[in-house]
Amino acid sequence: MKILIVEDEVKTAKFLKNGLGESGFVVSVAGDGLDGLYMATTSEFDLVILDVMLPGLDGWEVLSRLRQEGTRVPVLLLTARDAIHERVRGFELGADDYLVKPFAFSELLARVRSLLRRAPARAPEVLRMADLEIDLLRQRATRAGHRLDLTAKEFLLLSVLARRRGEVLSRTLIAEAVWDMNFDSDTNVVDVNVRRLRSKVDDPFLLKLIHTVRGAGYVMETDC
Ligand code: CA
Repeated sequence: MKILIVEDEVKTAKFLKNGLGESGFVVSVAGDGLDGLYMATTSEFDLVILDVMLPGLDGWEVLSRLRQEGTRVPVLLLTARDAIHERVRGFELGADDYLVKPFAFSELLARVRSLLRRAPARAPEVLRMADLEIDLLRQRATRAGHRLDLTAKEFLLLSVLARRRGEVLSRTLIAEAVWDMNFDSDTNVVDVNVRRLRSKVDDPFLLKLIHTVRGAGYVMETDC
């Protein structure tokens, strides 16, 4: 489990890093908000411990930018003041929990463990892209509010592409993810199915979401 600590107070950061390290976590530290935001958006962490009072970009700003960019990593806010409006603001901005300084390490560890246990259930249930909505639980997709009539495989194909929006996925990768098979010899299956999917998802609409990248595969994005 990887944890990012964003804290400018060297003593506190060191204390947290050592304590969490001894508890079996892999810990990285960012000394200010900008570094913290950069690290949280470019590397995968299971949890971010975010101090509110930071030089430059403060914890509020880091948190709101993280959420704006769609990063759903659990965030534990460290706040120096136990004012109720601070707490409310934190939750509004997308914090998962908060801890008031000073705190006992055992308390922090308990919160960390509880957040990490909750984390898997927080995976997104609905993927959205422009006017496309993919409800992963109900296995339904709509565009502009109209239900798309997709087969189970088409739905899966759409979900695979949408989950990794902006990323060019090769035909082989798509074949493995959707058909659980290696289609090296016949990636034409992917092309045929993408074409069918497009006829339902894109053809009736002005804004195209599924794009072909010549020689590489397919990508889903809103601006192309
Ligand atoms: Ca601080």
